Amino acid sequence: MQFSSYQNLRKRLLQRETTCEAVVRGYLERIRDSHDKNIYITVFSDRALNRAKDLDRKLEEGAEPGKLFGLPMAIKDNISIENAPLTCASGILANYTAVYNATAVERLLAEDAIFLGKVNMDEFAMGSSNENSSFGPVPNPYDASRVPGGSSGGSAAAVASDLALVALGSDTGGSVRQPAGFCNVVGLKPTYGRISRYGLVAFGSSFDQIGVLSKNCDDAALVLGVIAGRDAADTTSSHHAVPDYVSEMQALSLRGLKIGIPKEYFPDTLDSGVASAVDKCLDGLRSAGAELKEITLPESDYAIAAYYILTTAEASSNLARFDGARYGYRSKDAEDLSSMYINSRTEGFGSEVKRRIMLGTYVLSAGYYDTYYKKAQQVRRVFLNRYKDALKEVDVIAGPTSPFPPFGIGDKMDDPLEMYLADVFTVPASIAGIPAVSVPAGFDDSGLPVGLQLIGDFFEEGKLLGVGMAVQKALHE
Ligand code: GLN
Repeated sequence: MQFSSYQNLRKRLLQRETTCEAVVRGYLERIRDSHDKNIYITVFSDRALNRAKDLDRKLEEGAEPGKLFGLPMAIKDNISIENAPLTCASGILANYTAVYNATAVERLLAEDAIFLGKVNMDEFAMGSSNENSSFGPVPNPYDASRVPGGSSGGSAAAVASDLALVALGSDTGGSVRQPAGFCNVVGLKPTYGRISRYGLVAFGSSFDQIGVLSKNCDDAALVLGVIAGRDAADTTSSHHAVPDYVSEMQALSLRGLKIGIPKEYFPDTLDSGVASAVDKCLDGLRSAGAELKEITLPESDYAIAAYYILTTAEASSNLARFDGARYGYRSKDAEDLSSMYINSRTEGFGSEVKRRIMLGTYVLSAGYYDTYYKKAQQVRRVFLNRYKDALKEVDVIAGPTSPFPPFGIGDKMDDPLEMYLADVFTVPASIAGIPAVSVPAGFDDSGLPVGLQLIGDFFEEGKLLGVGMAVQKALHE
């Protein structure tokens, strides 16, 4: 049994044409048969089945089904689920079991979702290819010699391969949108503060957001509506009221909607297959009544530099807690306290994480703080103002999610700077804290997926998903 949307599954569940148990059995069977895909780190076989049976019983007894009744989900392994392993795909957390539920997880459970397991990712969400994982890479569902994108590569591949209907990921600089683009699924990064970060392992706290990966915009809107909203456990979560995203999305009309096309998002170096798929989507939007307007975002070239200074600084501080004393892995080979710290961290962390901790400590050090960290904070403000101004002129900004299609496994591993360029179009929205979504934009000539990114003003997720839905419609007509 495979479903094109949650609505489709829900109808069948509520009309008693199938049961949660049958649905979960189907997914678990497919997950078991997909070992070579390396998507799941932990599979909740018994737990998911028991939950499914409980939900079936509740329905039989006449209880009101929750908004996500029976929705089979995969959760990125940096989001905490009580009594389940939480590895962040890192050796340092290899044997760690989470002791509480993330707020997003709690809210999904309250609306009757079912968790199938925890999925693969780049270690501590640092990467663009899912290759920085202590569990090994995940093959792209459309071409196994290529990467699925990262860091939420497992989440995107799970949805694309029908090993979950919806997945949670996390996005610090593109980790939901870029893998969504590489795997032909929808990936939404909400406004900073829209979803509580309580229970999401911190990487760059002033950037991190939980995001939703799904087959279509309706499912993303539905799940966002459930997990968004103020949470006393995360003081950076917003008080902004949570609208009905599904109705907002459905009410959106493209007539007269202004879509800004930044010329910096279409450089000469843009892959030609990506460019033509994106152009086709934009033509579709124009035919459906939208007005396309060329805009300029001149500081775009500084995005990657500012992002990697700010996030490594935050990461170096956030990851200090993994010291061998409090969580997870402790080196056996230590004579005293400081060698215990050093050896635990040396053995437990992978090389990309160590690179970022070192870079982060460097940019925060007394001699370089002003030159790098402070400067990057100033650049961040410039970005915010520039995007805010642009979004006064246009309703949304559109362009490619990634400058190139999914690349080969191993191709960029020896050149971190090359790898960082994968995020060139996704980091600006993260720097500004505004929402963005990647929607499927069709395929290039070799059959590789292409993503279209839509960026909007603060709290305008409903509008973005509405435009995303119009893109889906235009491509299928
Ligand atoms: N690829 C980016 C990085 O490595 C983004 C990661 C993310 O969004 N978590 O930092």
